[in-house]
Amino acid sequence: MLSSRGPIMASSPTVLMRLVASAYSIAQKAGTIVRRVIAEGDLGIIEKTCATDLQTKADRLVQVSICSSLARKFPKLTIIGEEDLPPEDVDQELIEDGQWEEILKQPCPSQYSAIKEEDLVVWVDPLDGTKEYTEGLLDNVTVLIGIAYEGKAIAGVINQPYYNYQAGPDAVLGRTIWGVLGLGAFGFQLKEAPAGKHIITTTRSHNSQLVTDCITAMNPDDVLRVGGAGNKIIQLIEGKASAYVFASPGCKKWDTCAPEVILHAVGGKLTDIHGNALQYNKEVKHMNSAGVLATLRNYDYYASRVPQSVKNALVP
Ligand code: AMP
Ligand code: MG
Ligand code: MG
Repeated sequence: MLSSRGPIMASSPTVLMRLVASAYSIAQKAGTIVRRVIAEGDLGIIEKTCATDLQTKADRLVQVSICSSLARKFPKLTIIGEEDLPPEDVDQELIEDGQWEEILKQPCPSQYSAIKEEDLVVWVDPLDGTKEYTEGLLDNVTVLIGIAYEGKAIAGVINQPYYNYQAGPDAVLGRTIWGVLGLGAFGFQLKEAPAGKHIITTTRSHNSQLVTDCITAMNPDDVLRVGGAGNKIIQLIEGKASAYVFASPGCKKWDTCAPEVILHAVGGKLTDIHGNALQYNKEVKHMNSAGVLATLRNYDYYASRVPQSVKNALVP
C-alpha cells in the first residue's frame, strides 16, 4: 500500500493469531469428520477404562486430523491430545491447511504479541461428549482446541458439529466458537441466565454421590444433566444454565482448556471446586482431580455453598 509518506507495511499476524485462525479451520474440518462417521453408521466403539469411558472412530480420526494438521504448520508446538493412538501414516485427506481470515484481521492482545510457537501448549479433545455421541444426543458433542501460555488458558476454539440439528432440514448444521483473552469470544450470542434462579448444569453419564451432595447444597431451582464440558460452558454463555458444577475427578485438562477461555473472555469464571485456577503447562497432570465449578455470573454464591465434606473429599 502507498501513502503520501511512503509504503505502509501491514503488520503480519502474530503466532498466536495464526494458530487460532488455523485451529478454527481445523475444528471446522473436525466437525465434518464427526458428522461423516455418524452418516457412515459404523462408530467403532472401544471401551477405554470402563463402559462410560468410550472412544469411537470419530475420536480417533479427529485427533489425528487436528494434531497432524497443527504439527505440520506449527512444528514447535506442544500438542497434548486425549486419545492414546499408535503412530501411523496420516491420510492426506485428514489434513486441513486453511486459516480463518476473519481471525487474522483481528488485533493480537499486546501481552501475547511476542509469544513464540515453542512457548504454547495446545490441549485437544477431539470429541467431547463421546458417551452421548454413541447414544444419539448429538448436540451435546463438541470438538475442543485449547491454547495455553505460561500455564494459563489464553485462547480456544469450540466446534459444535450438530448445532441446530433439531431445527429442521433447512437449518445450517454446526458452528464454531472462538476466543482469546483480552480480545473476546465470538460465534455465539451472549445471553444471561434467568435472574434470581439457580439453574445448575452437570454430568449426565458420570454422576456420583459427591456431585449430588454438592448440587443439593446449592439449592437449585433446576438441574440439567447433559453430556460434555464444552456443551455445558455453551449453556452458561447462552443463558440456559447459571452454574456448571462437577464435584468429582474425571474431567481432564483437554475438557476445560478451550471452554475456560471462552467463558473467561466474556467475564465468567472457571475453577476447581476449591476455587483454584486450573493450570495448563505441559507437565501438569491431566486429571482435574478437584472437579470443576464455573459460572458466567454470581460465582461467589456457588463457591460459598460447596460443602466442606465435598472439599475434603476432592484433593487438587
Ligand atoms: P460429562 O459432564 O460427564 O460429559 O464429563 C465431561 C468430560 O469429562 C467428558 O469428556 C467426560 O468424558 C469426562 N469425564 C468426566 N467424568 C469422567 C469419568 N468418571 N471417567 C472418564 N471421563 C470422565
Ligand atoms: Mg471430553
Ligand atoms: Mg473426548
